[in-house]
Amino acid sequence: MSPGVVAAADQVLAEYLDDPDIILFDQSAARKAQFGGVASLANARRTPRTCMYPSCAATTIRHSHTIPRSSSIAAIANRGHVVTPAFSHPDGKMVARLVGTQCASAFPGFCETHEGLFFSYERTGRIMSELDISRQLFRSICREVVRFEIEGTWLEQTLRDFDEFRRVAIERLIRQRAGDESVSVSSVDAKGPRADLFQSRLDELREELAWFRREFYSAAAAGVDDAEQSGLAVSAIEIDRVVPVCLSGRANFHFRTADTVVHNVRVVVTVIPTPPNTFVAIAAPKAYGHMLDAYAAIRFSNPLMIIAAIESWMLHGTDHWFLGPDTWSSITPTAQQALLDDILDDTHNIGALYNKTVFNALKRDILAKIRSSLGPAELVQLEQTIAPWTDTTDTG
Ligand SMILES: [Zn+2]
Repeated sequence: MSPGVVAAADQVLAEYLDDPDIILFDQSAARKAQFGGVASLANARRTPRTCMYPSCAATTIRHSHTIPRSSSIAAIANRGHVVTPAFSHPDGKMVARLVGTQCASAFPGFCETHEGLFFSYERTGRIMSELDISRQLFRSICREVVRFEIEGTWLEQTLRDFDEFRRVAIERLIRQRAGDESVSVSSVDAKGPRADLFQSRLDELREELAWFRREFYSAAAAGVDDAEQSGLAVSAIEIDRVVPVCLSGRANFHFRTADTVVHNVRVVVTVIPTPPNTFVAIAAPKAYGHMLDAYAAIRFSNPLMIIAAIESWMLHGTDHWFLGPDTWSSITPTAQQALLDDILDDTHNIGALYNKTVFNALKRDILAKIRSSLGPAELVQLEQTIAPWTDTTDTG
């Protein structure tokens, strides 16, 4: 290499470390570098994989549903659609998206044979037996594993794409600076904020996946054919109301033991309307069983409290939920946006109740029915316990 090229290379590298954006020549390059991978991630989430049933090597069908489609998602849909929160990359915020029941909660999870594991309760539309519950939780947990794995693979590819994008850009800059079109750069060793960000997210994700596989997947897989063998502690309850939301995902709460140690309890939560009822469950590895029991003793103590807990799961837990469009449109546009913004606020976990109301009509209805049996003071106390009651409808 000529001294001129070496000097140009040193200068370009120093400038890059000072301002990593110099490799982005224009806005469209910037946009492509930042968001080019989103479509490929969405695509990977629909691509068939290996079945999640233990030791099964068969290829999955494309659309397994985490939540039973015909008996539950379709039951709360309006003209075949439900509302789900989604991150809009161009806007940098959460938006409400109307999706068809065909797509809602679908993931490439099971082969045709093992998709049959869930037929017994999909047919009846009721999750009744211990085995039904065990299988439904297995299905929820498998979705989380699949999401982790797909995102990990995607991040690895994004990191490789970014490295190549950067190599080409740096090469171009050195060529311009040295006035020598024959210069070639084989790789760039320098760190940079973008590469670091992808790498640290990837490391974090691999760690989370390993933990989740070990603690949740293994425990749930053990109970898939015999609920007695499950390694999960489960609190499940059925209420005789249709709560118009389908939900399945991960969440956490903090639990302080007598020795004042704060434990972070990671859980899987699910809400499945099975008209005229709703199935609600929360599960954790058995080691956390007594903490889960303590949570459920309070949050599952009456129907209003359960609905308030579900609202907390939606806003402080997982954003993987599908709401009946009627419920969503009953909320004022201002409150809708506040709800969506609150999803991105990660300062709370499901140990806290949500400070606004999603199921206004449902809660009002239940309150009206029990009102006659309560005195005014008891009523105020109940309203205070169920949730800070910030009605989000016009009629409130
Ligand atoms: Zn299989």
